[in-house]
Amino acid sequence: MNISARDKHVVVLGGGDTGSDCVGTSHRQGAKSVTSIELLERPPEERSPTTPWPLWPLMFRSSSSHDEGGTREYAVLTRYFEGENGRVKRLHAVRVQFGESDESGRPKMEELQGSEFTIDADLVLLAMGFVHPVHEGLLDGLGLQKDGRGNVQAETTSYATSEPGFFAAGDCRRGQSLVVWAISEGREAARMVDVYLEGDSSLQSKRAYI
Ligand SMILES: Cc1cc2nc3c(=O)[nH]c(=O)nc-3n(C[C@H](O)[C@H](O)[C@H](O)COP(=O)(O)OP(=O)(O)OC[C@H]3O[C@@H](n4cnc5c(N)ncnc54)[C@H](O)[C@@H]3O)c2cc1C
Repeated sequence: MNISARDKHVVVLGGGDTGSDCVGTSHRQGAKSVTSIELLERPPEERSPTTPWPLWPLMFRSSSSHDEGGTREYAVLTRYFEGENGRVKRLHAVRVQFGESDESGRPKMEELQGSEFTIDADLVLLAMGFVHPVHEGLLDGLGLQKDGRGNVQAETTSYATSEPGFFAAGDCRRGQSLVVWAISEGREAARMVDVYLEGDSSLQSKRAYI
């Protein structure tokens, strides 16, 4: 089925890179309106003190897709969808705020009483992020250990998983990331597979740091 945003009120759930792609595509397909909703608070205009150099700076960013228009909402939790004749028509949401962190280090989220609102929605695009690779099937079948976020456990010296002869690299190991990391990890892991099989490798390591 061909899904198009043409003449539709589009709501994109998730304010990351994938959400940005959805916003741009919706505009180019001729959406009536495009609203992007992010659960987390709007990042600061300048680099956040929580991400000093050399960490990737947490700060507010706009892509060329955002420059095409639309509304960006932050600190909004979607409660439920309302529909007519089997089709979504409206999204019900509430504003939230984040307080002290809990034991796991995640800030506690609190709904702001009386801040409930609705948005017209003919098309809802879920861009809420990659959580971890699918466990059922291959990963559970092999009995591979996972890290605290559900990714395949393997450190970046050997790329070896908990099962001898099985290696992991890229998003399934480090979590959702970037193509450059996938390329780099793929090369490094290939080298470590060579070492595992041959005892040594003529493949050059390009790793700048561990
Ligand atoms: C919408 C979107 C936009 C993005 N935009 C950017 C961007 O602009 N710039 C950027 O740098 N990164 C971007 N990323 C992230 C980037 O795509 C990933 O970081 C990168 O593709 C990770 O590469 P990978 O090889 O680790 O995993 P993947 O590219 O996900 O490749 C994994 C492959 O394994 C296959 N597979 C899964 N299970 C099995 C199995 N059991 N057997 C065999 N094969 C299997 C899958 O079908 C898939 O082809 C984006 C991601 C998304 C989703």
